[in-house]
Amino acid sequence: MLVRMGRLSTKRGFGVYGRLKALLFPPACLFCHTPMAGDGCCPDCYAGIHVWPRHGCPRCGRQLPEGVDEGLCGHCLNRPPAQAGTTSLLVYQGPVREAILDWKLSGHHAPVRWLIDAARPRLRELLSEHDLLLPVPMPLSRMRKSGQHHAADLSRWLAEASGCHWDWRILRRIGEQARQSSLAGRQRWNNLRKAFAIDDDYLTGQSPLHGIERIWIVDDILTSGATLHYAARAATCIGRPVHVLSLARTKSDSQGEVDDTRRSLFR
Ligand SMILES: [Zn+2]
Ligand SMILES: [Zn+2]
Repeated sequence: MLVRMGRLSTKRGFGVYGRLKALLFPPACLFCHTPMAGDGCCPDCYAGIHVWPRHGCPRCGRQLPEGVDEGLCGHCLNRPPAQAGTTSLLVYQGPVREAILDWKLSGHHAPVRWLIDAARPRLRELLSEHDLLLPVPMPLSRMRKSGQHHAADLSRWLAEASGCHWDWRILRRIGEQARQSSLAGRQRWNNLRKAFAIDDDYLTGQSPLHGIERIWIVDDILTSGATLHYAARAATCIGRPVHVLSLARTKSDSQGEVDDTRRSLFR
């Protein structure tokens, strides 16, 4: 057996392995599993992936109506969020929505990793070695139950793609709150009012803040903005500008059709 395995490790062996793999697992679209020439995203899924428009309010990230000059939106002129700026990479719909749900429910992360890889040029433009990503923490009981911390995984992948730093220990969750998805409107905001705090223990000694000029609170989906607002509010005590970053953002009805002038993702 060992002799045979030795043969498989030759160049010819890898060729046989490659053909066997292609036979057993033919290349398919990561999103819809349609067979295709190579691994990746098929043209139909690609057409359904929408980048969040960059012409928006710099504070909350809402898309601005066409023809309106870039600047603060009406919401931010009245009641600005805690963060200094908001960036979302993708619109939460179609293949992006399916990919995030599949990742969160089944742990299948290949499509999400593909999206982050596609966003690499945008991430490198946005983030540098002076940026620190802090994932939005989950309640401890929920993390123990699922064994997963999606915002932390996302922060790690974003940091790897951009060369910035990340740390899951600094921003902490306090107490237990109802799931945001089970609440609506004002309840979503009240639910998280006192849900986050900074753990000072990690900011002393060999501080992870050394050389850091900007903090980013990271989450997978931005819906009402309540979670990120309260997490950012807790992080302002660190004494650096606090921004928020989401992989995807839901589109409210008032935002109309998302600008789809891009032909190539993030380039
Ligand atoms: Zn597809
Ligand atoms: Zn705004």
